Amino acid sequence: MTNISKQASRKALETRKNAGISPVAPLDIWKLLQDAQISLIKEPLESEISGLFLRKGSSEVILVNTNNTLGHQNFTAAHEYFHLKFNPELKNRVCVAGQFSPKNILEQEADYFAAYLLAPDEAINYFLGRRFNWKPKKLKLSNIIATEQYFSMSHHAMLIRLVQTGRIGEQEAEQFKDNIISISLKANKTVPNVESG
Ligand SMILES: [Zn+2]
Repeated sequence: MTNISKQASRKALETRKNAGISPVAPLDIWKLLQDAQISLIKEPLESEISGLFLRKGSSEVILVNTNNTLGHQNFTAAHEYFHLKFNPELKNRVCVAGQFSPKNILEQEADYFAAYLLAPDEAINYFLGRRFNWKPKKLKLSNIIATEQYFSMSHHAMLIRLVQTGRIGEQEAEQFKDNIISISLKANKTVPNVESG
């Protein structure tokens, strides 16, 4: 764990605790924003940006691009929430959430925060233990999809959390990184076509 990721993890757990949310339960990010009295705008944007935040006086606003998957929208909302809560020096920012790029420390921390907030270690352990009776054995694609659906989180972000919690290796994560459609296309290509042989 890097320092950035450690800090983000601590802030995410604190946030859950202050909001009275169990560290093992899935989190409703939209309710969290509502309780924090943050105005939320959901708009389909023809742009690669996933969201933005701005504050003006006592008003705090988050906009989420609904052209992305629901998992990515949740992730973006949590990412923007981080900026509002922990970057008081920023008045606004437009973000491409979920890149986890070390080139921009602030963005990277917001990404880690979002990932930890939506799926803390305890919650992943609890879910895998209960749902799949998980012991150190290989997770299949179907397990990973079930996990990301349970946490309402994007595929990419879930893979990062599963690597961090030691559930899958980095190489495995690379293999699972493609979206579901390209994974199934690749799988089909490896099936020998006996009839034309
Ligand atoms: Zn950001």
